[in-house]
Amino acid sequence: MKHTACPCCKGVDLEDFFTIRNAPTQSLVTIKNRDEALAIPRSDIVLTFCNQCGFIFNSEFDTSIDYFTQGYEDQQGFSPTFVKFLAGVSERFIEKYGIRNKQVVEIGCGKGDFLNLFCKIGGNRGVGIDPAWVPGRGEENPDVRFIKEFYAEQHGEIRPDCITCRHTLEHIHDTHGFMQTIRNSVKASSPVLSFEVPCIVRILDIQAFWDIFYEHCTYLSPGSLARLFRSTGFEVLDMYLEYDNQYLFIEAKPVGKPSDKIHPMEESVAELKAKTRVFVEKINTQLGEWRERLERFKADGKKVVVWGGGSKSVGFLTQFDDIGVIAHVVDINPHMKGNFIPGIGKQYVTPDFLAEYKPDVVIVMNSVYMAEIQKSLADRGLHPEMLGL
Ligand SMILES: [Zn+2]
Repeated sequence: MKHTACPCCKGVDLEDFFTIRNAPTQSLVTIKNRDEALAIPRSDIVLTFCNQCGFIFNSEFDTSIDYFTQGYEDQQGFSPTFVKFLAGVSERFIEKYGIRNKQVVEIGCGKGDFLNLFCKIGGNRGVGIDPAWVPGRGEENPDVRFIKEFYAEQHGEIRPDCITCRHTLEHIHDTHGFMQTIRNSVKASSPVLSFEVPCIVRILDIQAFWDIFYEHCTYLSPGSLARLFRSTGFEVLDMYLEYDNQYLFIEAKPVGKPSDKIHPMEESVAELKAKTRVFVEKINTQLGEWRERLERFKADGKKVVVWGGGSKSVGFLTQFDDIGVIAHVVDINPHMKGNFIPGIGKQYVTPDFLAEYKPDVVIVMNSVYMAEIQKSLADRGLHPEMLGL
């Protein structure tokens, strides 16, 4: 079903600018056999630009699919690089707003890794709210509890001093409705909010096609994110990029009258639109170069693996699986072992498997992990050619 109005501002002056045909509609669902993995429905991703507010979204997104309650594997806490990053941003945020011994709510807390860490560092009490939460996957902390539900207005009764929401907004189609629910829920309190989303500006600037996949229906920039927050009754306190400019952070607070405070990082609608034009000009070259490279590996009989499961690998393999050169996908999350990649049908393997397989080429789905992965391979006596996204 084609969405004909902008989910953020309800504007109807929309423009489609990039399409990925037949993408698997799910990338993080846990699947235990190949046939089921290949049977995941496919659908087009149509990136659409709102000329009124600069919001970018998949206008073909099917809101009727259940993405989160059928087993959803999104835990990143197995990487030391990632844990260090999370601890760093948490410490800075806690320091900045004095969030110690406070009540924290995390919307979309996943398995609770971040909330546990955040509460530990700041001596805070936490409530994590997420339909995909599963018990027994995080460390026990008497000050942290979980509610296995979607966030709703009544959760405001927790009266949080701080609301965090990491990598959730990009999965939400009705962004305006979601932010409105949060605004309505905090009528009686005045929490500071910290949200984190992938930044579309970087995706456009470097044509990061692997970061475009079906489960992300929403693609935010500093400008469109700030405008969304202001239009739903929040004031932007700060914004910044982290993790090699991949992740965009916004800090905000609820306000009584509409805020007109603009952050210096915000780009205009016209500026973002110009970036979509450059992306369209360059993306086919980028895809062509990768295809050529992979076809050459195949012709040379190279053993090629992808390191890093999850959505990026689905985004990458959606483009190139037909070449048939990528034999395996490695992931360090032990809960992924034995699972099959939705839509692709390959089975995840652990790093130990590579010691036997001895790949010639490892394509790393996130260059942030390059050093960590190189060490992991070297520890197993492996020194393959490394390519990073
Ligand atoms: Zn709009």
